[in-house]
Amino acid sequence: MENGSGKVLKPMDSEQLREYGHLMVDFIADYYKTIEDFPVLSQVQPGYLHKLLPDSAPDHPETLDQVLDDVRAKILPGVTHWQSPSFFAYYPSNSSVAGFLGEMLSAGLGIVGFSWVTSPAATELEMIVLDWVAKLLNLPEQFMSKGNGGGVIQGSASEAVLVVLIAARDKVLRSVGKNALEKLVVYSSDQTHSALQKACQIAGIHPENCRVLTTDSSTNYALRPESLQEAVSRDLEAGLIPFFLCANVGTTSSTAVDPLAALGKIANSNGIWFHVDAAYAGSACICPEYRQYIDGVETADSFNMNAHKWFLTNFDCSLLWVKDQDSLTLALSTNPEFLKNKASQANLVVDYKDWQIPLGRRFRSLKLWMVLRLYGSETLKSYIRNHIKLAKEFEQLVSQDPNFEIVTPRIFALVCFRLVPVKDEEKKCNNRNRELLDAVNSSGKLFMSHTALSGKIVLRCAIGAPLTEEKHVKEAWKVIQEEASYLLHK
Ligand code: PLP
Repeated sequence: MENGSGKVLKPMDSEQLREYGHLMVDFIADYYKTIEDFPVLSQVQPGYLHKLLPDSAPDHPETLDQVLDDVRAKILPGVTHWQSPSFFAYYPSNSSVAGFLGEMLSAGLGIVGFSWVTSPAATELEMIVLDWVAKLLNLPEQFMSKGNGGGVIQGSASEAVLVVLIAARDKVLRSVGKNALEKLVVYSSDQTHSALQKACQIAGIHPENCRVLTTDSSTNYALRPESLQEAVSRDLEAGLIPFFLCANVGTTSSTAVDPLAALGKIANSNGIWFHVDAAYAGSACICPEYRQYIDGVETADSFNMNAHKWFLTNFDCSLLWVKDQDSLTLALSTNPEFLKNKASQANLVVDYKDWQIPLGRRFRSLKLWMVLRLYGSETLKSYIRNHIKLAKEFEQLVSQDPNFEIVTPRIFALVCFRLVPVKDEEKKCNNRNRELLDAVNSSGKLFMSHTALSGKIVLRCAIGAPLTEEKHVKEAWKVIQEEASYLLHK
């Protein structure tokens, strides 16, 4: 390879990696050290970067210093600082030293582990760490890799629900005939993440066969088993085929927890694939006192938790367990000549390419393994408990202020609250809450997001960034109160 200046390019030179790697680690360490100096939510306008960067790629090499200068001056202003201790929006996306080092090692090894043979350690480590986390969650044996079950790392909860939906679809179509696609019905509550809707769109489920069952504050937005039973019975009477239920442990809007055991009973007795989305709250269930929220998981066919949310494992690392790996592989496997090898042909190994949508896959288990080994499960439990304690403190602060109310009871580390209506004016109240959110976020001092519950605009304060301490929560509340007081007296 010749780079135009007469020199041959050496894209992976060990000594350059050592030198630049040190510079980059220093750069990132300094970023973390000064992260509180940045506005949490990026304040740039759409298109800002086009004005700052050239129209085409450079013809000749530039230096790392030049690039890092641009990162400082042009990229960081357009970054929303998810790792800031004052990031309370959406759900957290944890980064940690262990997770970071695991990512680095994975990039360093640069393997693509689609089949066992392409890097046996990648497949086997993934099976082992998924078994480890299954044990921490006290998942039933059937989800472990010993028998016909097992775990796999997906890129996201969206991919997890898509692959199990496809597995369930093909399983039912194998028994009722492939022309029955238009009769297949999917069930979920109206609090289920839009990832399920997207999965249904991709999997060819007819939109009119997606039953989005209404929830309300009487169950704290959990799905009522009676509501599922009624819907299933109606569909059966109409000659339709109920085949998939997605329940939630920790909904995106408000951490609602569906009653898994009762829902699972209905699913099991009707031959419905039962998927549990615990993308956010699954992490908390490694603590014995929160394990109750996944009681009933033994009735599920698949279970998903995002280690990249609240488990100190850098994005992306979504953990999916299934009881019946054959259903997945029957739906997703292909066997072209160019990938054939002895171990796969002899059926001696797991080939994760058949458990996911893409062929290629990174060595993601390394970072989860690093997290589990460098921190240990007891540290992870106290990490989660500390966030829940901080959320309780925030909840208390909110409930002591007569201008605010807690909208749904807090279960984990998300607090849903809002400014109360003045003179019962709900519509004005929604606008006021939107204005409050805008004001708070434009301050740059913290970042929260919102949702709607029963038509009410609700502010969400999700505590879970690795650097968040009590002082950040108190400071956030101070900013919210100041902005609220300004709005109420305007
Ligand atoms: N399910 C729940 C409960 C979530 O909160 C989220 C995202 O926050 C998702 C699914 C989608 O996650 P992903 O980005 O991993 O697809």
